[in-house]
Amino acid sequence: MANTEVIIVGGGMVGALSALLLAQQGNTVHLIEKSVFQMPTHDDPVDLRVSAFSAQSKLLLEQADVWKDIPADRLCPYKGLQTWEKGSQKLVFSSDDIGAEQLGYIAENRWIQAVLWQALQALTNVYIYQETQVIAIQQDAKQVSVTLQNQQVIEAELLLACDGANSAVRNHLQMPMTSWDYRHHCLLINITTDSAQQDITWQEFRETGPCAFLPLAGHHASLVWYHSPQKIKHLQSLNNLQLKQAIKDEFPALDFEFEVDAKGGFPLTRRHAQHYYQGRVALLGDAAHTINPLAGQGVNLGFKDVQCLVELLTECSDLGIPEILKRYQCKRKPANLLMQTGMDIFYKVSKSESNVVRVLRKGFLGAAQQSGQLKTRVMRYAMGIN
Ligand SMILES: Cc1cc2nc3c(=O)[nH]c(=O)nc-3n(C[C@H](O)[C@H](O)[C@H](O)COP(=O)(O)OP(=O)(O)OC[C@H]3O[C@@H](n4cnc5c(N)ncnc54)[C@H](O)[C@@H]3O)c2cc1C
Repeated sequence: MANTEVIIVGGGMVGALSALLLAQQGNTVHLIEKSVFQMPTHDDPVDLRVSAFSAQSKLLLEQADVWKDIPADRLCPYKGLQTWEKGSQKLVFSSDDIGAEQLGYIAENRWIQAVLWQALQALTNVYIYQETQVIAIQQDAKQVSVTLQNQQVIEAELLLACDGANSAVRNHLQMPMTSWDYRHHCLLINITTDSAQQDITWQEFRETGPCAFLPLAGHHASLVWYHSPQKIKHLQSLNNLQLKQAIKDEFPALDFEFEVDAKGGFPLTRRHAQHYYQGRVALLGDAAHTINPLAGQGVNLGFKDVQCLVELLTECSDLGIPEILKRYQCKRKPANLLMQTGMDIFYKVSKSESNVVRVLRKGFLGAAQQSGQLKTRVMRYAMGIN
């Protein structure tokens, strides 16, 4: 597909990657973003919103030719992943087991978005509309058009809704969702450590919810503390010194000294759109699905949506947009549902206080640690290279 007009609503990581890949193929892209993009600077403190990017996501960012632009001092490769239930044996994954250099990378969302926007701004076939929103959407058999707040009308053959979990496009079109709250919140805590940059991420499962450690570039790291909304509210109300003490008292032991730099609480909600397209409009990324962040898969699934749709648009251009979007839904919806459901079962089982489940849980983690094949398959799946 080339020379096609595409409207993309939402310039987060998923929307910006879609825009760049489609523009690089010669299509005309209209990118509509409700905020104003601000290029982060090297002096900015580490942002709270960080993500673990799989090997497959790295490949896509390389394909878009922006991976090289992510500053090295904002990118943390990790080689190991450890998970265990409080008081029991560790399940240890290592990139060495599959002959890979690393399992993935952890970076701030805003730097990934920034390198994509930088590349978009240099292209003459990308039109960017910032600080505005879509107030109306109309479509017929031939085209889709949107009206912006200033009454400007943009027409195109395809509209991609990448406007996040509360997608306004999805709401305009009254596309139904299945959703529920996990009754848990999580607190993201950025810390500065006195140890060298680490290359292992870990997660301890507890009946109150998991506790996780994500290494960041330099002397930085991110702690993720899942608990009841009341507990997270209380932790958020503490000052940084008090929170440091609460981490020392209640979080899994950290084998280094640290200072708390920043914190922020997030509710956990699962959402899944019942349909991924309507006519000439497709939902991608969080606009289509949100997942429990415990396995660090949210944006990786969004990037897989982008890859799938861009490939279909390139390889099946003779089919027409509605048929291509139908195929996109057939490929991505079951895959995203499988990951969402897998994470939910894992999450429920990890919190269960039933003695039977507790014994099975420990048995499974022990067996998985002994089974090279099972571990390798899980690792490859998480890396997106299954
Ligand atoms: C606590 C937490 C930890 C996470 N950790 C990980 C992880 O380790 N790994 C991972 O893969 N994922 C992780 N995720 C998930 C990941 O952050 C999301 O999946 C990802 O940010 C979704 O990207 P997106 O571009 O689809 O949506 P968003 O990032 O929400 O971007 C949407 C964009 O659309 C814009 N927008 C919104 N409304 C409008 C509108 N009406 N008009 C125009 N523009 C609009 C917004 O300003 C924004 O720029 C985590 C999520 C949470 C909550």
